[in-house]
Amino acid sequence: MHCELRSPRALSSLRRTMLTAFYHPGYAAPIGDHMMPMHKFALVAEGLRAAPDVRLVEPAPVTEEDLLRVHTARYVRAIRTGKPRDLAEAQSFPWSPGLYPSVCLTSGGCLAAARQALRDGAAAALVSGFHHACAGHGEGFCTFNGLIVTLDALVADGTLERAAILDMDLHYGNGTAQLVESRPEFFALSIYGNDYWEHACFRDVSVRQHVDGENHRSFPLPGGCDRQTMLAVLREALPLVAAHRPQLLLYQAGADPYFEDPFSPLTLDHADLRMRDRFVFEFARAQGIPIAWVLAGGYTEDVEKVVCVHLNTVEAWRSVYGG
Ligand SMILES: [Zn+2]
Repeated sequence: MHCELRSPRALSSLRRTMLTAFYHPGYAAPIGDHMMPMHKFALVAEGLRAAPDVRLVEPAPVTEEDLLRVHTARYVRAIRTGKPRDLAEAQSFPWSPGLYPSVCLTSGGCLAAARQALRDGAAAALVSGFHHACAGHGEGFCTFNGLIVTLDALVADGTLERAAILDMDLHYGNGTAQLVESRPEFFALSIYGNDYWEHACFRDVSVRQHVDGENHRSFPLPGGCDRQTMLAVLREALPLVAAHRPQLLLYQAGADPYFEDPFSPLTLDHADLRMRDRFVFEFARAQGIPIAWVLAGGYTEDVEKVVCVHLNTVEAWRSVYGG
């Protein structure tokens, strides 16, 4: 494996900038044995615990009021009560009373990381952004859309007026696109290698076009996409983010573009994805845009390889923001 983490001993000799990463054991919804590896959040936190330049902090859960800015009352009630059951389980998780508290914490982690990024320039939430969740239902293992819950909360309390989302999960961020359509203050960019709609792996998604809007754009990565192609797409797409003049960038640093992922038609390895993250951080820093990142998908059978992608995002942060 190509985890290029520096040892805690080597790090302790560097002048350090601290990264605050929000983690809570309660992120893991009680869904039992499932394709979505809920325990990866804990494994990533474990991998960072010894790092002298990372501070793990437990976030508070978001409130029902936070959720209701984004999701319908009927849907929020369904997740809280389990009724109706088909709506409560539309994201493909088995419902239990423990689901609601866990998804309030995951959105809370995203919101806390965003607030921290506005103070520090960069911060992380060791949890997914859940970009397939729509206003009235969940989809694709995503219950509530933590990205939009976060941005709406920050607009509601007057913290910011404009923000952007860069989604580099393997799958197209359909829920986020739907939700930003009515929110011109946000801009969402999805760079994807699997169009998600059919849960299928496409050899070349470039033949399928999403219906982009004024403030949500998508760029497909072609089947077999390598580092050079990915960086060329980023170079083309990132000026759209800059043009929106966001006061905050939320970044979904997905692990499922990794070439061994069962959904991925790309050829990107650990070093390529670390380069992706570094490119994004360099962009944000050069533009003076605070950035908060989340982990997003990753389904490779060996979960350590998924964890490695996420730990490498921290290493990329270190190379751009570290001491
Ligand atoms: Zn995904």
